[in-house]
Amino acid sequence: MIDLHCHIDLYPDPAAVVRAVNDRGLYVLSVTTTPRAFPVMKRMIKEAPRIRLGLGLHPELVAQRHSEVDLFPALLAETDYVGEVGIDGSPPHRGSLDLQEQTFRKILMHCSDRGGRVLSIHSRGAAGKVLDCLEAYPNSGAAVLHWFSGSPKELARAVDLGAWFSVGPAMLRSDRGRNLVGRMPQQRVLTETDGPFAQEGGRPLYPWDVTSAEAALAEMWGFDAKSTRDVLKQNLARLSTTHRGAKVLSE
Ligand code: MN
Repeated sequence: MIDLHCHIDLYPDPAAVVRAVNDRGLYVLSVTTTPRAFPVMKRMIKEAPRIRLGLGLHPELVAQRHSEVDLFPALLAETDYVGEVGIDGSPPHRGSLDLQEQTFRKILMHCSDRGGRVLSIHSRGAAGKVLDCLEAYPNSGAAVLHWFSGSPKELARAVDLGAWFSVGPAMLRSDRGRNLVGRMPQQRVLTETDGPFAQEGGRPLYPWDVTSAEAALAEMWGFDAKSTRDVLKQNLARLSTTHRGAKVLSE
C-alpha cells in the first residue's frame, strides 16, 4: 500500500504512526508544512526504510512564514522529495496569492538547480496558476498534484505537462472527484490519504486507510484488488526514477 501524501508529524502520536506504518510495510511520503519541521521529523523516521520525507512550505502558511523558503537550498540536499508546496486560491488565502506564487516559483527554481525533485503539490482554487509555474520550471522534477480539484480542462493541461496525481478516499467519494480521476492516465495515479487533515466518518484518516482509495480505483478501473495494487506499485517505481538523482522508494 502507498500513501503518497500524509502529515505524520501532525498526528497526536507521530512515533506510533511511524511504528504502525513500518509494521504494515506501507510506502509513505510524509510531507511537512514548514522547513523547520523537516529536521525534527527526519530523526523520527531514521529507522523507517519505506517512509520518505518531503521538505515543504504549505501555501496556507506562506503569509506568515515565507522567509523560511531561504532554508530550502541547504535542506534540499537531504531529500529527493518536496512537499507540501503549491498555491491556495480559496477565499481565506487570496490575500497572499502573489506572495504564494513568488514563493512557489522560488521553490521550483531551487529544485531545478538541484537536478529536480519529486514534488507533492497543493493547487486548491489555483490549478491554472500552479500549472503556469510548473510550465515555467520544466526541470523542477516530477510534479504530483495532490487532491487535484481543478476543471477537466485544467486536468487535461496538467496531463500534457506530464504531471502525476495522488488521489485519496475523500476525493474518490465525490462524483466530481471520481469524474476527474476517470480522466487521469492510469499510469500516473497514486494513492494518498492527506491524514490527519482528511477525515472519514468524523475521524482522521491514517496512512493504512488508503485501502478505501484502492477499492474505489479497482472499481473504476475494473481490476481486482491485486492488479490494482500492482499498477500502483509500478507507478510508484516509475515516479521514483522519473528524474535524475531520485532514489527508488519502492524496492
Ligand atoms: Mn496535505
